[in-house]
Amino acid sequence: MKHEEIEVYLSGYIDGELTEQEMRRFDIHVETCTACNALVEDLRQVTARVCQLRISLSKEEWERMERHIEDGILCWLVRSSADKR
Ligand SMILES: [Zn+2]
Repeated sequence: MKHEEIEVYLSGYIDGELTEQEMRRFDIHVETCTACNALVEDLRQVTARVCQLRISLSKEEWERMERHIEDGILCWLVRSSADKR
């Protein structure tokens, strides 16, 4: 997988939506690329924090926040991939 492709597959990778083959190609690149390795690690931490937040909120509160969180992760992704270029 090329470096440019990682961004495209990243959210699918975190959500577990990639096929086994895509997952393997993704892993191979991430293992050999420091920038992508850091990116995946950061995103895992953000995802873990979002999960913790979800547990602490009621269903209604969570639904209200969900849209904002997704927007936030997207902004963060665009920012962090711009930083590394
Ligand atoms: Zn890379």
